[in-house]
Amino acid sequence: MKHYQLTPVEANCPICYSRNAQLLWSVDSEQASRHYVSKEAEPQRFKELAAHISNLWQQKTCDVVRCDDCGFCYSYPYTAGDDKFYDLAYERSGYPTWKWEHQLTYDALTDKRDFTLLEIGAGDGAFIRRITPELTSQTNVLCTEYSNYGRGQIQQLGLNCLAVDIRSKQFEPFKEHFDVICMFQVLEHMDRLDDLFQRLNYLTRKQASLFISVPNPKCIEFSELNGGLLDMPPNHIGRWNREGFEKLGERWGWFVEDHAIEENTFVSKAELFLKYHFWREGQHPGTPANRISRIKNHNLSKLMTIVCIGLYTVSDLPKLSRLRAVDLGFSQWVHLKRKASLEPE
Ligand SMILES: [Zn+2]
Repeated sequence: MKHYQLTPVEANCPICYSRNAQLLWSVDSEQASRHYVSKEAEPQRFKELAAHISNLWQQKTCDVVRCDDCGFCYSYPYTAGDDKFYDLAYERSGYPTWKWEHQLTYDALTDKRDFTLLEIGAGDGAFIRRITPELTSQTNVLCTEYSNYGRGQIQQLGLNCLAVDIRSKQFEPFKEHFDVICMFQVLEHMDRLDDLFQRLNYLTRKQASLFISVPNPKCIEFSELNGGLLDMPPNHIGRWNREGFEKLGERWGWFVEDHAIEENTFVSKAELFLKYHFWREGQHPGTPANRISRIKNHNLSKLMTIVCIGLYTVSDLPKLSRLRAVDLGFSQWVHLKRKASLEPE
C-alpha cells in the first residue's frame, strides 16, 4: 500500500462522535487472520481465527478510518479482541522489560510517596517492581493482568493482581481509591472508551494522575505506507494522538499535563521496519518471505530470513533514510491529570 484510499465514509468516532471519516483501508476477516497466523503453516488455526474475527465484527469486513474532526484513526466496527481472539492469534511471547514510558512515569512520580496505584495490564510486573516498595508500599498497589504467567510473576512479588476488566463489578469496592493509574500499551486495544473513562473517574481521587503509553501513529503510518505491517484490528483498534487524549479527557474531566514521543535510534527503527516488511511480505503466498516462513528447519529458516532481510535493506534504502526523522519513534506517552472539579472554571 503506497497511499491510503481517503474516500469519505460514514463511521462513528469513539472520541468525538463525528460520523464523518476518510477510509484508510479495509480488510476482510481472512486477510486480518493472515496478519496473525500463517494460512499455509497452520490452516486450521487460521480458519478458526478468521471465523472468530467475523463473529467479533458481526460482519466479514472492517474499515480502518480517520475521523475528519479529531484525526483519531480507528477500526469500524470499533470492537476489541476478546480472550478467544488472543488465544488464537498469538503464541505467548516474552514480556517487555523496563521501557521508555516506564522511566518517564517513574520520573513523574519520583517526588511522591505512599500513593495508591493501579496498573492495568501489568505484564509480568516490569514497571511495578521498580515502584514498590521504593516509592509506595505493596499494599497500596493493585494490578490487572490476563496472562496466567504474568499474573503469577506479579503475585510472587507479593502484589495483588486480578484477571478482570476494571469495568467489571469486582472493581466496585475501589471507589475513589487510586491516586495513580497506569496503562502501558493497553488503550490501543480497548473499545467502550466512555465506559472506561466513567470507571476511571469512579476509581480515582481528585487530582489523580493517569499515565498512558500507546504506539506512535506516525510510526504506524510509515510502516503501512512503505510495505511494513498493517496496524491490524481487532488487536489494535485505535490510533491515538495528542488531540484524542485532549478531546476525550475534556469530556471526562482530565487534562494533558505532559505528552512525549519516544526518540529511537535510526538503527532500531530501521531494524523494526525491515522485520515488519519481512512479516508483511510473508502474508502473501508466492513471495520469498512466505516460502521462508514455511521452512521447518529452524537454522535454515533463520539463515534465509537474514538473507531476505539483507536484500530488503538494499532495496529499502531510500525509504530507510526517512526513518531519521525524530518524530517516527515507536511510542507516545501521556500524563493526564484529573481536574479538581468537573464544573467549568
Ligand atoms: Zn473524532
